[in-house]
Amino acid sequence: MSNEAEKVHCLIIGSGPAGYTAAIYAARANLKPMMYTGLRPGGQLMDTTDVENFPGYPSGILGPEMMEDFKKQAERFGTDIRFGIATKVDFSVHPRKVWIDDTKLIEADAVILATGAEAKWLGIPSEKRLNGSGVSACAVCDGFFYKNTEVAIVGAGDTACEEAIYLSKLCTHVHMIVRRDQMRASKIMQDRVVNTPNITVYWNSETDEVLGETVVEAVRIVNNKTNEKTTIPVHGFFVAIGHQPNSAVFKDFITTDDQGYIVTAPDSTKTNIEGVYACGDLQDKVFRQAVTAAGTGCMAALEAERWLSEQHF
Ligand code: NDP
Repeated sequence: MSNEAEKVHCLIIGSGPAGYTAAIYAARANLKPMMYTGLRPGGQLMDTTDVENFPGYPSGILGPEMMEDFKKQAERFGTDIRFGIATKVDFSVHPRKVWIDDTKLIEADAVILATGAEAKWLGIPSEKRLNGSGVSACAVCDGFFYKNTEVAIVGAGDTACEEAIYLSKLCTHVHMIVRRDQMRASKIMQDRVVNTPNITVYWNSETDEVLGETVVEAVRIVNNKTNEKTTIPVHGFFVAIGHQPNSAVFKDFITTDDQGYIVTAPDSTKTNIEGVYACGDLQDKVFRQAVTAAGTGCMAALEAERWLSEQHF
């Protein structure tokens, strides 16, 4: 690791709606922000098709196009956007130290954490073995590969419902595996699922095994009330059971809750470390929307700006 540091006033880590919005506000406040995008510039919205609930797009917009707009707007005001991952931090000293890709050291007066969250997996061996060979956590990314075939999806939240409906437009049939006798998803999404003729919901059902030698050929499910096992021939197996916040790299310094979400002060993006702010899905397990992430990104930049001017950095 290099100890030759590059110094910056305001460092933003992560490039979803939260990170880009923080960048727009920080750049317009002349903080000359530097952003490291992470492994997947644009974040989770890069896996989304139509976004219909982000204000300002009356006809809707594709997730990747929306993130391109965010990026352009951040660049327009001079954000220094770079590709790289924060692999280590030291928030016990000031300026705050952040190592990128285990090599480059950045020293920042203020840091905005916006690394988001990522998909959870079931944790069964066959899911791992066949990952990329029929197993996916992103219907929008991979659904196309299973066009005109039968697929299965696990989960019962809004994401699972949204993805089941998406898949139902591409695939001949969607088998939806729900572990309880009800769904967590909003009523409108549940109604859409149960009213889609080529989606079958398997209630009280869990995935016993994903079957296939080199590619997915079927899924065996077990009814957790009756123990009855059913094998459903499918080519694609989609996991949509929630997300994990990307906070591991910060946890030695930053307070997180029992699920790993960064704890911020009420009505604020302040973390337990002065001059370090957290926004977006990294600290929000309640709303998790692009628009709320953007809102907290704005808050983080405004709070960083105020703090920096008070410190006379
Ligand atoms: P959620 O945490 O809301 O739902 C996860 C689902 O996966 C639950 O139904 C849960 O079951 C199920 N699950 C978890 N672990 C397992 C397991 N091991 N086996 C089987 N099932 C499992 O995650 P989502 O990603 O769906 O949604 C996250 C947030 O984003 C929510 O607040 C949601 O409302 C929001 N969202 C909003 C959208 C929109 O407004 N357009 C679109 C997508 C998401 P159980 O219910 O039994 O716990």
